[in-house]
Amino acid sequence: VRRARYAVTKVMEFCYGHRLLNHPGKCRHLHGHNGIVEIDIEADTLDALGMVVDFSEIKQKIQGWIDDNLDHKLLLCSQDPLVSFLQQMGESLYVTNENPTAENIARLIYHEARKQGFKVSEVRLWENSTSCATYSE
Ligand SMILES: [Zn+2]
Repeated sequence: VRRARYAVTKVMEFCYGHRLLNHPGKCRHLHGHNGIVEIDIEADTLDALGMVVDFSEIKQKIQGWIDDNLDHKLLLCSQDPLVSFLQQMGESLYVTNENPTAENIARLIYHEARKQGFKVSEVRLWENSTSCATYSE
């Protein structure tokens, strides 16, 4: 028996800076990205309006969280020695438990969207126009 499956995708943009601890190349230096995140949300059945979920609800809640927590922030690993210094200087950081790679940022957004109750199936984070990291469970 084939099961119906619907999905919607919302695309959102945000800017962030980061650096990667222990990276052998240039990613160990502070730099920034204009990231594009694509969130897939799925459903077996549609709601009374005929939707998986209202796009405006995704924008309001998930984009709202990204705007408040990640946009124009420096994403640094908790083990990064810059964290305490930049916090003292009043910089706005988002501190991650692991290296703030595109993969880990995609996972962070996936879990946040799940926490908000969205039935997320996959999150893709485009770090630039040619590099994309995907997270799903
Ligand atoms: Zn980078």
